[in-house]
This record gives sequence, C-alpha cells and structure tokens, in this order.
Amino acid sequence: NDMPLEYPIRPSAKDWSDLYPMYFKPEAKSRGVPEQDDLSVSDANKDDQKPGSQPESRKIEFADIGCGYGGLLVALAPLFPDTLMLGMEIRTKLVDYLQQRIEALRSIQHKLHQNDTGDAPDVEKRIKTEDLDSADQLKNSVDSTEQDDAESDPEYAKIQDNGETNFPVPGSYDNIAVIRMNAMKYLPNFFEKGQLTKMFFLFPDPHFKKRKHKARIISSTLLAEYAYIMKVGGILYTVTDVKDLHDWMRSHLDVFPLFERIPDSEFEGDLVVSAVCNSTEEGRKVARNNGDKYLACYRRIEDPYSS
Ligand code: SAM
Repeated sequence: NDMPLEYPIRPSAKDWSDLYPMYFKPEAKSRGVPEQDDLSVSDANKDDQKPGSQPESRKIEFADIGCGYGGLLVALAPLFPDTLMLGMEIRTKLVDYLQQRIEALRSIQHKLHQNDTGDAPDVEKRIKTEDLDSADQLKNSVDSTEQDDAESDPEYAKIQDNGETNFPVPGSYDNIAVIRMNAMKYLPNFFEKGQLTKMFFLFPDPHFKKRKHKARIISSTLLAEYAYIMKVGGILYTVTDVKDLHDWMRSHLDVFPLFERIPDSEFEGDLVVSAVCNSTEEGRKVARNNGDKYLACYRRIEDPYSS
C-alpha cells in the first residue's frame, strides 16, 4: 500500500520548495511536464546553469543515506545552520515520522526566535512610525493595495503570516528534510555532478547472507555514483557495528580510485564524526548494548586520469 516512488528526470527538474520552504520558492512553471528540450540529454547541463535555476548557495550539500529516524540530521542542523541536508529513506513510516519531527522542531524554534528578537512587535512599531493613526487606517491602506504590490512588500507578507518570519532562521531546522526514495536507484537524478560535500552511511543494513550481499549499499557500481555526485574534497562517512560489513565497505572503498581513506586519528574532537557515531537512533542502541562501532571515512579525490 506504499505510494510508488517518484524520481525527477534530472536534478534541476526537482522542486524542493515543499521540503525546504524557507529556501526555495515554488516553481512558477508547471511541474513534471517536460519542455521540449528537456528530453535532450546534451542540454541537461546547460539548462542547469541558466538563470532561474537555484543559486549555488541553495543546493543540498549533505545526504544521509538510509537516515532512519533522522538523529544525524537533527544533530547536524544547528552545527551547519546554513547548509541544506537531505535524509533519504525507503520506509514510509520512518519518513512520515521524521517529517513530523522536523516540522515540530521548526515551529518550536520559529516561535522561540520570534519571542527572542521581538520580531513581530518590531514590525508593529515600524508601521506606527509610518504615521498610521489607527488599526482601521492600517487595514484600509492594506485593503486598497493591489494584491501584487502587497505580495512584493516583505513587511506586509510578514503581517499576512501572522508575524511569522518569512526567511530561514539559523538553528530552526529549516535546513533539513527527508525524502522517501530508494537510494540504490537514481541518486544522480537528485544531485548534480560534484554537488555533495558530505555523504553519510550510518549503520546500514548488514545483509548478512552471502546471496544478499548485492543488496549492500556500498558496492563498486554504487561507489561510482557516489563519486559522481560528490565534490572533490568532500567526505563519505561510514559507521557500523557489524565487523563483517565494515570489512566489506572498506574492501570496496579502499580500492576505488576516487576515494582515499582518512585516518580516524584525524577526527579527534571532530563534531561531525561524533554525531556520526553517537547521534543516530541505531548508534544509540549499539551504545546501550555496549556494542563496538567501526568508523571508516573517505575523501573524494581528484580523478587521477582526468586532464
Ligand atoms: N542511519 C540510521 C541510524 O543510524 O539510525 C538508520 C539505520 S537502519 C539499520 C538502516 C536504514 O536504511 C533503514 O531505515 C532502512 O529503511 C534504510 N534503507 C535500507 N535500504 C535503503 C535504500 N535502498 N534506500 C533508502 N533507505 C534504505
């Protein structure tokens, strides 16, 4: 009874405004219906750069593959308040849970922020100093404004939102989201070449039986996709409590020419690695059971054979 999974035909065709409403405006053009030249592969990259596509700063940079209940995203959101992060998860129940969790965190933080900065009263103060004698006069002046003008007036937009701020508030979890998808399929439909600066594979399903190994989320084929969507210098993080899976992931990553192991010793005191090991629901469970955790992090390096 799960909804079928949907994939964008290419990264620039994905409308992110539902997931990151503070960062993306809904697309004006109709969704899902490709324009004539959208079908031409050679135009794909050119199209990504034309004005109207999202500016560089509005791109998702971190992807948490198989994010589960989302503990990592929630931990990293305030550490990188202006970095967009996406959890990718195949199980509907977990996606629904995490969506609600993020919405709750956002609304709490936005309320706190309003009280902290006195944003709403401040707007009122400014309106008063604009010589509006009474609330009636304010209402009349707003009513007589053309709707289009009104919408382009940021102060008015704030009033319409009942004083809620209409821009990302750092630390308000506006920068994290989750999408239901199969990460073993079509990842390059979501991210452009070189887009991601961090990818996380935290406590992936071990698929113990040998005939199930092909279901493992680290494989030579999939590593080629991960390398493609990662930026040179970006970091791929893996952690597991299953020694056999750790050895498997290392054996594939160690020989892959576009990744280079980063010694664990370089991460002493590193907040990201601390979150990688300790912030997820699975990681906490392992800790409660005094299980071991095996970390392996890799840097995406320059293609040794290019140029
Ligand atoms: N990373 C989380 C944590 O550390 O708490 C969850 C770990 S859980 C053992 C593995 C998760 O990966 C599950 O939530 C599972 O649904 C998800 N998963 C497995 N295969 C996947 C796939 N192909 N695409 C997306 N998610 C997947």
